[in-house]
Amino acid sequence: MPFATIRKTAPAGAPPARLPDYAAACRDFDWQRARAQLDGLPGGALNIAHEAVDRHVAAGRGGKLALRWIGKDERVRDISYAELAALTGRFANVLAGLGVQRGERVFSLLGRVPALYVAALGTLKAGAVFSPLFSAFGPEPVQARMGIGEGRVLVTTEAFYRRKVAPIRDRLPRLAHVLLVGGANLDAVGAGGLPADCLDFDAAMQAASPRFPTAATAPEEMALLHFTSGTTGKPKGAIHVHEAVLAHHVTGQYALDLGPEDIFWCTADPGWVTGTSYGIIAPLTNGASMIVDEAEFDAERWYRILERERVSVWYTAPTAIRMLMKIGAGIVRGFDLSRLRFMASVGEPLNPEAVAWSADAFGKPFHDNWWQTETGGIMIANYATMDIKPGSMGRPLPGIEAGIVARGVDGRIAEITAPMAMGELALRPGWPSMFRGYLNEPERYAKCFADGWYLTGDLAMRDGDGYYWFVGRADDVIKSAGHLIGPFEVESALMEHKAVAEVGVIGKPDPTAGEAVKAFVVLKAGHEPSEAMRKELLGHARQRLGPAIAPREIDFRANLPKTRSGKIMRRLLKARELGLPEGDLSTLESDER
Ligand code: AMP
Repeated sequence: MPFATIRKTAPAGAPPARLPDYAAACRDFDWQRARAQLDGLPGGALNIAHEAVDRHVAAGRGGKLALRWIGKDERVRDISYAELAALTGRFANVLAGLGVQRGERVFSLLGRVPALYVAALGTLKAGAVFSPLFSAFGPEPVQARMGIGEGRVLVTTEAFYRRKVAPIRDRLPRLAHVLLVGGANLDAVGAGGLPADCLDFDAAMQAASPRFPTAATAPEEMALLHFTSGTTGKPKGAIHVHEAVLAHHVTGQYALDLGPEDIFWCTADPGWVTGTSYGIIAPLTNGASMIVDEAEFDAERWYRILERERVSVWYTAPTAIRMLMKIGAGIVRGFDLSRLRFMASVGEPLNPEAVAWSADAFGKPFHDNWWQTETGGIMIANYATMDIKPGSMGRPLPGIEAGIVARGVDGRIAEITAPMAMGELALRPGWPSMFRGYLNEPERYAKCFADGWYLTGDLAMRDGDGYYWFVGRADDVIKSAGHLIGPFEVESALMEHKAVAEVGVIGKPDPTAGEAVKAFVVLKAGHEPSEAMRKELLGHARQRLGPAIAPREIDFRANLPKTRSGKIMRRLLKARELGLPEGDLSTLESDER
């Protein structure tokens, strides 16, 4: 192994870690007992919003800072727990006033603005289901997700509405109310193209009462709907229930070493699961103060925020870390980051070089951890008190049983116990934040489970010390800048262009983003490949899909490799693009390049 293990010894005077003894915790941990850390509601009910906000107010901690929002222009807005309780109460009343029922879906399409956090927790308070969309999505991804989720309410801005929702509004028959944040020009309703069901978010909030009796949701009631992508078909809506809050709470403590005295900064956008589980819920249930930065990545700004806000726990992603590395360690040393106690990373493989770099630049390493939309919370992690093997994702959380599995000759899934044998990473079902379904797709859900395991779709290895090592995806799904992208969604958008006959989309290694989306296009007769055509297709994809999903590169081909059943072999496109062995070609049908 080229990178030496980083040994952990607690610095003198450091507060005790929240997971002082990993082995003992694994032995003794019990989800049922951990439940005592939560309040719950009368009659066995459980509501995430109560655990995150109101219970702190009830316990006399309402004056504490819950959220410090930093605007793009570095304007600051502080929201205490008591204020957050009032704002979320108002939003719950707004929803009740609109007739939104328990279990109905409220979507957001917002940047990282205070209204997003209020809408998320207010929706849960009302007993409705919150589904956040990433603001860099274009109209097609918005339509696909809101269509599947049958969104009743959308919270967005006027600009996003006009650009991303108006073009597909007639394909969203279930959408009944749109709340526009930040001063909508509602005088233009009708005349300016805004439909009459667009309401001013701020005015509605003003008019609503801050008091709302939190819905007494059952622990198994749906709370969150997070979309994720597969290799084929439409995006999948992963259902999470209120019980998930137990995992958010506990994993926040164990994997992020998070507690009430911390100032916590999760840089993920709530449009993705990390930004909700750890950018909203876990820090608040643990009574911490969290930082929300509206702006996009900027190394200097980030270091400034870490210093000025005295951030103690920082959760970010490999793409950002690689960008910081590019700029160099010199800049880090110009800031006083002595408050920073724990740094963690998630979402894509964290290169061992990045761990070693951070240990040098910050005087402390990034702690990689692993999970996915379906798991709802961190499953495998490097802990504050555990030695780090750079390049490893760490070991399973107490309460989580993981394994490396493969299908045996008898067709059954079985564990492979030999150290460093490659197989599929699997988990024993039953942890609180496990997804409870893909909305309206029971068969797709059932396929994720076999012989007592949840199959993650990731390939990995486990070493003799129980550390897990990520190998790659078992499927064609692309990970770019930490965002999971379904090639099918990109292919479908390109197919809508009149010149396109066929498309195959792959993830191509990229030194910063991990992978970049690349499309191979076959044009219809009468259309010729040219630079102008490439630009037109790139523009078309960007406009339909938004910059988060659109391909960065397009190549033209006369034909694409296909299986005998007519499926485009993305694996082969990728191998050829990268000059790798082409592997098993027994199912290859047509192959004119
Ligand atoms: P998502 O559902 O969008 O959160 O993406 C989950 C996927 O991201 C996982 O199935 C992995 O393929 C990848 N992933 C997440 N964390 C890590 C990690 N620490 N190392 C490698 N891959 C990761």
